[in-house]
Amino acid sequence: MPPYRMMEQIDTREEFSMPSFDRFAYGQSDRQSEEPEQLCECCNDRCRNPIYFGEANWEYYGEWYCSAHCLAKQIGAEKRYVSY
Ligand SMILES: [Zn+2]
Repeated sequence: MPPYRMMEQIDTREEFSMPSFDRFAYGQSDRQSEEPEQLCECCNDRCRNPIYFGEANWEYYGEWYCSAHCLAKQIGAEKRYVSY
């Protein structure tokens, strides 16, 4: 085997055994660059905002609402002034 061929083999082996010192080469992926996964839409018929995994939303008997306002509207609750 010619000498230059041996050098080539050694270089290749060192390349694979060298650890990466790039601190961005490891760890979790950038969560902001990923699209959030949608679960469903708000169950208020007049709203239909997307409901995403990882968000805090309102669940009522297995149905999801984007806000307490939407939940109240859907179940017929009203915000009123308390009167005597
Ligand atoms: Zn809503």
